[in-house]
Amino acid sequence: MASDKPRKAGIITSGGDAPGMNAAIRAITRVALRHEMAVVGFYRGYTGIVNEDYVDLDRKSVANIVQRGGTILRSARCKEFMTPEGRDKAAENLRKLGVDVLFVIGGDGSLRGAAALRDHWDGQLIGLPGTIDNDLAGTDYTIGYFTALDTALHAIDKVRDTADAFERIFLVEVMGRMAGFIALGVGIGCGAEEVLLPERPVDLRELIGRIQDSRAMGKTSCLIVVAEGVVHRGVRSLDDRITIHDSTMLAKEIQKETGLDSRAVILGHIQRGGNPAALDRILASSLGAYAVEVALEGATGVMVGVKSQARCTVPLEETWTKHSSLDEYLLKIQRLLA
Ligand code: ADP
Repeated sequence: MASDKPRKAGIITSGGDAPGMNAAIRAITRVALRHEMAVVGFYRGYTGIVNEDYVDLDRKSVANIVQRGGTILRSARCKEFMTPEGRDKAAENLRKLGVDVLFVIGGDGSLRGAAALRDHWDGQLIGLPGTIDNDLAGTDYTIGYFTALDTALHAIDKVRDTADAFERIFLVEVMGRMAGFIALGVGIGCGAEEVLLPERPVDLRELIGRIQDSRAMGKTSCLIVVAEGVVHRGVRSLDDRITIHDSTMLAKEIQKETGLDSRAVILGHIQRGGNPAALDRILASSLGAYAVEVALEGATGVMVGVKSQARCTVPLEETWTKHSSLDEYLLKIQRLLA
């Protein structure tokens, strides 16, 4: 890009969808239009660019979507874009359409894709953090995280009722393969007795010891929040003979040792759905507008984010090469509160 202002914007939502993506599409579109840019939305992430599957967006096309979950542009994973040939094709199509700035709303994979496109295309590339996992460095929060927390909490509150009634142990598996942001937030929010995180090794014997202690102190039910990354990586069984890769098996193992009725609930994809929570709508709207502003200033190869209440940009590469850490204070107080 020369120093000229961009005249045509492209938008994609890519990878795992997240509530609030629509609010981001709307904000980018409306602010870009105000600055006399034309806007196109590509369908299904990078697939839409590779296959020239897109729609022209005007003010009306993004009306009445700020409150809707999912994404009007759909999302997808695009294998072809993983190859240099696929990215060449995408670059060629972007040139053909006259797009000079591309906004990529997605998680770390989508942002890696944006960075990889830089070798093929000389337009501006701006990322927006769109993932329920909250695992991108360079921003305190990602679009979709707050809604995922709320959705999981509402479900877990119901599980807590039945756990109390039947004096059971419940393991609730939440999303988070690599990072425990959802599990920790949810664990604090629902007052879980235990939170198992991919960032911390799980010692089953110690865990069972703590359950038995709290039982001795009069607690009759127990809620354990498990990040999916914990079972994905595996937990060693009590006799150290097998690695458990499944929350239901983990519950059985706990039952075997404690004699307490133990069940597993896997929340799964409900965590991606639903109308975006207030904070996700606000985050997505502000980052959408800000993304256009930084593009007008000539930024490229960056993700927009928010740090300590201030909007900022961070080089795309840093979003996955730097580590995004869990809140140490929340980690410290979790067991104190339970
Ligand atoms: P998320 O953005 O939610 O992390 P994925 O990891 O599935 O989701 O990535 C979404 C898409 O981004 C992939 O299907 C692919 O098209 C593109 N992508 C991911 N990683 C790369 C990469 N290293 N190079 C090029 N494209 C990539």
